[in-house]
Amino acid sequence: MKIETIAIHSGNQMDNTTKAAIQPITLSTTFERGESGDYPGGYIYSRADNPNRKSLEKVVAALENGADACAFATGNAAGMSVFQALAPGSHIICPDDMYHGLRNQLKMLFNGVLTFDFIDFTNIELIFQTIKRETKLIWAETPSNPLLKLCDIAAIAHIAKEHQLIFAVDNTFASPCCQQPLSLGADIVMHSTTKYLNGHSDVTGGILITKENNEFWQNIKNVQSFGGAVPSPFDCYLITRGIKTLPYRMRGHVANAQALANYLENHPAVEAVYYPGLASHPQHELAKKQMLAYGGMLSFLLKDGEEKARQVINDLKIFTQATSLGGVESLIEHRYSVEGPDTKTPKNLLRVSVGLEHIDDLIADLEGVL
Ligand SMILES: *Cc1c(COP(=O)(O)O)cnc(C)c1O
Repeated sequence: MKIETIAIHSGNQMDNTTKAAIQPITLSTTFERGESGDYPGGYIYSRADNPNRKSLEKVVAALENGADACAFATGNAAGMSVFQALAPGSHIICPDDMYHGLRNQLKMLFNGVLTFDFIDFTNIELIFQTIKRETKLIWAETPSNPLLKLCDIAAIAHIAKEHQLIFAVDNTFASPCCQQPLSLGADIVMHSTTKYLNGHSDVTGGILITKENNEFWQNIKNVQSFGGAVPSPFDCYLITRGIKTLPYRMRGHVANAQALANYLENHPAVEAVYYPGLASHPQHELAKKQMLAYGGMLSFLLKDGEEKARQVINDLKIFTQATSLGGVESLIEHRYSVEGPDTKTPKNLLRVSVGLEHIDDLIADLEGVL
């Protein structure tokens, strides 16, 4: 089946009692046992498994072409489960522009348990040189935040395979409609489902998808079940509901982002635009090779510096000044002030999550303030 059909049908388990066309929300924490002590419904206790979570995991595994998925209460909990599944003393190679929430998680929560190097992932040779005896995991994120830098998934997968390392990709910025890391050789994909998968800025969630049901995946499943950072049935229902329109929403995000990037690139007040779909993007050729579409995120620099950037976000009427991404509404953010003083993000940079409003209205709003 094609992705539009998978998105609508793969996560919908019909209720055999009522024959409701849409799967109900199963709030029960516990499930009745059979006479011999077995579990005829297939469920035991809601931390271990729940019908709505199973549906969410099933549809996302199908969207990413994976063997299985594990859903979590947030994207950070999903990422943390990968790190917790590693043996103590393991070394991780991560990008120097890794999502700051996960970078801080490694530095604050895994200090003394795991070791890590944060390096430039556009430099494949450097990744290769950073591998040591204790290295167990390469963690990539592409396109990256907020400079929309890409890393070559297939090339890193090749290195990981040669050195028997686990290769995980944070695919949140792209969505499964724009990029399929498992097909390019990754072992594990992560999403913050808070973003495009749910798509309506009203649930937090995270998910991991595996290519193979192997021993490391079993560790992750143990972290999910015994660690217990699982999403509620209602949250799973909402995310599964959001996913039904994901392929069509992504088409709109991509079309609007490309049009907005073209507009900004030709605007005299703008110094630079970062969007993988622009021919001027330094890795546009790589984007063409590994992405199915260029996503809905872009960043741009203002010629008149930080002051102008702050004025622009305050004066816009349709764009909401807020963090996060992937919802139907357009968001704009001064990233430097979110990320703190150790960031490499330029002070005159604005990051945009391009929403699904009409492109003419978005451009008119920007035209009025630029
Ligand atoms: C938001 C985000 C996360 C973290 O997800 P939460 O749901 O906020 O915990 C991880 N990676 C990327 C790229 C994100 O945008």
